[in-house]
Amino acid sequence: MRRRFLAANWKMHKSIAEAVAFAKDFLPRIAWAEHEVAIAPPFPALSALGHALAGSPVALAAQNVHDEAQGAFTGEVAPSMLAEAGCQWVIVGHSERRHLFGERDAFIARKVAAVFAAGMRPIVCVGETLDEREAGRTFAVLETQLDGSLADVPSGHAADLVLAYEPVWAIGTGRTATPDGAQEAHAMIRGWLRGRFADDAGAIRIQYGGSVKPDNAAELLAQPDIDGALVGGASLDPESFARIVRA
Ligand code: PEP
Repeated sequence: MRRRFLAANWKMHKSIAEAVAFAKDFLPRIAWAEHEVAIAPPFPALSALGHALAGSPVALAAQNVHDEAQGAFTGEVAPSMLAEAGCQWVIVGHSERRHLFGERDAFIARKVAAVFAAGMRPIVCVGETLDEREAGRTFAVLETQLDGSLADVPSGHAADLVLAYEPVWAIGTGRTATPDGAQEAHAMIRGWLRGRFADDAGAIRIQYGGSVKPDNAAELLAQPDIDGALVGGASLDPESFARIVRA
């Protein structure tokens, strides 16, 4: 039985003070939630939010990481730095990293290995663009991203992976995949995972991401291969994200 996992991706939103205020408002609203929950704030808010979440069931996540342990990589953050800041999770290969910052599968694969080596767990994002979908290439694109991004998962760690299927055309657009359409992609991903990781595939959680809102979350989460959600815009408001967690 896979435990549902809801993760908030705040992207480049919220100051340190706003992140702490969110935690105070949000935590009482999800006190009885059974699901696993994590929040990924911008880097400067990690420590303060980590303190605000201490003792709660909500984990701290980072939005990105570099694969090297240290060095001349201006503007980058090493896995050990995130672990020291209290992160348990790292979002890797988000479509904004892939499309706005040119991240390729091979780099993402190295990040996945580095996140595990630092004692954290990755949320690995995959998803097709609208052009790719309209060209009938969704599954081919997902397969290429899975082959490349999951090429270096250390042995014994497969079951600790979390994937996020995020169709690029649904991110921040208000256009959500239909529950059936999302399930179809998740089932394809599950099949790929079975081929690659055999029995461990059944334990790997696959989140859906792309304009998840309080009103559409329950229907998406009712699908057999949708094990949670990665939520952007709707996670910025405590009540809105709490309603998704309770969905
Ligand atoms: C995301 O950033 O991963 C995301 C799914 O954003 P939104 O929920 O705003 O579409």
